[in-house]
Amino acid sequence: MTIERHNHMNAVMEKTGNNIGIIGGGIMGVTLAYRLSQKGFKITIYEQSNSVGGLVRHFDYEGAHIDRFYHTILSSDLSMQNLIKETGIEDKLHFTETKQAFYDNGKLYPFNTPVELMTYPPLRFFERFRLGLQILYSQLESDWHEMDKIPVQDWLIKVSGKAVYEKVWKPLLRAKFDTMTGSVPATYIWSRLRRMLKTREGVTSREMMCYLETGYSTLVDAMAEVCYQHGVEIELNTGIEKILTDEGHVTGIVKKGGQIASHDILISTLPSPILASILPEGYETFYELLNQQQYLGVLCPLLILKQKLTPYYVLNITDESIPFTAVVETTNLIDPKYVNNYHLVYLPKYIEPNSPLATLPDDEIKTMWMANFKKMFPDFDESLIQDFIVQRARYVEPIRPINTSDQIPDIQTPIDGLYMGNTVMIYPDLGNGEAVTSFADKMVAQILETHKSIVV
Ligand SMILES: Cc1cc2nc3c(=O)[nH]c(=O)nc-3n(C[C@H](O)[C@H](O)[C@H](O)COP(=O)(O)OP(=O)(O)OC[C@H]3O[C@@H](n4cnc5c(N)ncnc54)[C@H](O)[C@@H]3O)c2cc1C
Repeated sequence: MTIERHNHMNAVMEKTGNNIGIIGGGIMGVTLAYRLSQKGFKITIYEQSNSVGGLVRHFDYEGAHIDRFYHTILSSDLSMQNLIKETGIEDKLHFTETKQAFYDNGKLYPFNTPVELMTYPPLRFFERFRLGLQILYSQLESDWHEMDKIPVQDWLIKVSGKAVYEKVWKPLLRAKFDTMTGSVPATYIWSRLRRMLKTREGVTSREMMCYLETGYSTLVDAMAEVCYQHGVEIELNTGIEKILTDEGHVTGIVKKGGQIASHDILISTLPSPILASILPEGYETFYELLNQQQYLGVLCPLLILKQKLTPYYVLNITDESIPFTAVVETTNLIDPKYVNNYHLVYLPKYIEPNSPLATLPDDEIKTMWMANFKKMFPDFDESLIQDFIVQRARYVEPIRPINTSDQIPDIQTPIDGLYMGNTVMIYPDLGNGEAVTSFADKMVAQILETHKSIVV
């Protein structure tokens, strides 16, 4: 930290006595710290694992950084791209044209351009027309509040028809919501279509996506580096077990092991049920609200191959007997030279917390996954497999049931000085880096407004 910065921080502290604790060092927590430290606050981030990044963390594999989960930045993700520019890592950002396809009845069908959509063989001519109409319709509809009252399948069947729903939408919804599709409102598909269509360029509808050459976590690491320069403390391996209050106002936290740290302001970026588990006594209504928030987890085996599998970034699977719901070959986006010339194929399955798959041992997952993988690719040569690594996460995809947007928690919690932000609150946007970093900006604006007397 520079002497000027140190003096400046001390001036803020002397003037206000306020210091902020941020719980959770995922992209949300680190963006908040990055922004608030620029305003001169004293910040400590508490992260329970041994590095920042949360869901966007990478692991080291033979010297290369490999994303635990597949992550892409869309060409329309401006908040992410601005952060990349601000932190000086723009030279690591690359744009690639990506392609997707459907696996239907043993065959692969490209599904990218209007022509491919209008000639998609599993659909009849009239059905293709209705699918195109649905996509167009989603662009014209601007009021999501009405859509929030309609079950997603009702809305899709109404506009696209039953056949299109069964052959296109249902597999896509199953991929994201597992058995919970029936609880999801039309808002979800509306939001998703709007996001995906923004990545399309010109009349050819080429899909452009971006990646950071050393992985998505490079951005979090770059922000963390600036945070250090601003005097932010990042306590790793520090799980928070309790929030402390006095007469309804935050006073600090208890770390795992019992150590206490004092804070005047706390910002939780934890998934809602985890925040509920560390609340003090006496906030039963808030506790229940947090525990009502639902999430799916993800089971995401990664196949590291010595050769390219397909030309597609995503292959959507319509066959419900296959346990994973997509084949995501990220090295059709990322240049393989950044991952030791391997080819990375993620085989995800979003799962409910009580799914038997959630606790199935890795070797059994491998047997089940590979048997189905071979069914899809009968000519696949097994000697091309370098590794099979199972990744899992419990709180990934928030489920906002039909017409419950009034049950979204507020940034300002009922506890004075405690703020919260997580993906259940980013609605109707979807949980992704763009939405999370934009939401962090919104939180910062609200916190600054509330505490404007201490901003210098
Ligand atoms: C399979 C998959 C694919 C995805 N694809 C994309 C994509 O292509 N593009 C995109 O933009 N986004 C994608 N995402 C979504 C993106 O990863 C998330 O939206 C984002 O990482 C959420 O960040 P967060 O900081 O809100 O939460 P998290 O990353 O979950 O961070 C929460 C942090 O809190 C910590 N924590 C938990 N409990 C405690 C405690 N008691 N004390 C202290 N710390 C604690 C955790 O260790 C974690 O680091 C994908 C996610 C998955 C799983």
